[in-house]
Amino acid sequence: MRVSVVIPCYNEEKVIRSTFEKLYEVLNEYCKEKGYEYELIFVNDGSKDATLNILKGLEEKYDVVRYVSFSRNFGKEAGMYAGLKYSSGDAVVIIDADLQHPPELIPKLIESFKEGYDQVIARRNRKGDSKFKSSLSKLYYKIVNNMIDVKLTDGSGDFRILSRKAVDAVLSLPENNRFSKGIFSWIGFNEKTIDYDNQLRAEGESKWTLKSLIQYGFDGILSFNNKPLRIIIYIGFIIMLLSLVYVIWTFVRILIHGIDVPGYFTLITAILIIGGLQLVALGIIGEYIGRIYYEVKKRPHFIVEDTNIIKEDKNIKTEEKN
Ligand code: UDP
Ligand code: MG
Repeated sequence: MRVSVVIPCYNEEKVIRSTFEKLYEVLNEYCKEKGYEYELIFVNDGSKDATLNILKGLEEKYDVVRYVSFSRNFGKEAGMYAGLKYSSGDAVVIIDADLQHPPELIPKLIESFKEGYDQVIARRNRKGDSKFKSSLSKLYYKIVNNMIDVKLTDGSGDFRILSRKAVDAVLSLPENNRFSKGIFSWIGFNEKTIDYDNQLRAEGESKWTLKSLIQYGFDGILSFNNKPLRIIIYIGFIIMLLSLVYVIWTFVRILIHGIDVPGYFTLITAILIIGGLQLVALGIIGEYIGRIYYEVKKRPHFIVEDTNIIKEDKNIKTEEKN
């Protein structure tokens, strides 16, 4: 059996070496004992620092080190996609480069995979996170899970092991705008969850900004369903019905009492509310059209500038195995 470990890295020069050492320590011992093979696939997502140089240095010394280096920053989703694509293992572990995902957990993941699970998810608790942040995300997951068709769980991120079957399923989804949390849930298969304590980043900085978090939040809602569009239709219908009732009521009043001129308040209320609603509706429709625009271009998910993996066609994989 062969295990691939995929590590997306973006500007991780401060921590990448210790991440490697930790992974090497854990996997070397475990795989030797069990007689498994393993490879570490570092995906350099267009880092502007010394990450790539460090990886090249490691690659010279250790033959389990593979790297794929992008021509620019394509985002973590693209990094994971590339890692999965270049992996050759019977099972693939996805793990962050910043030691927030404890490598010690990998043997446990592999063990559960061996029990026959196609996805084993390592779920973190929110220890160490601020109260505000954790209640905010709790609220988010509540709302999103009510809205979308796949189930998202708080704390289950990308740290997980996938069987070859599950990897192929993930790769078979061609979409450009990849929302992994949704994709992993969407593909199904039997899964198991292992809990671990939240870890703080060892070195370097998180790449998340408030803006990117909000965008990610919207992605979660918009990537996996068209319910927002349906909600607009419902709201539209309700408003239409209410207006109809109001119009009839006003008309009857006119018939009985004659026209009374003042009506500024009702007029301005109607204009403002409906105008606002129309803008929101347009915005939601626009969001979907924007997504269609990006998807129809069918651009590749990433551009590789440099790699030490000689693959591309499956034949090499079987040669390696024999
Ligand atoms: N990452 C990446 N490309 C990016 C941003 C992040 O490959 O554009 C990697 C990063 O190097 C790390 C992982 O994704 O290994 C998680 O990033 P980060 O620690 O910033 O996210 P957080 O842990 O705060 O969610
Ligand atoms: Mg992190």
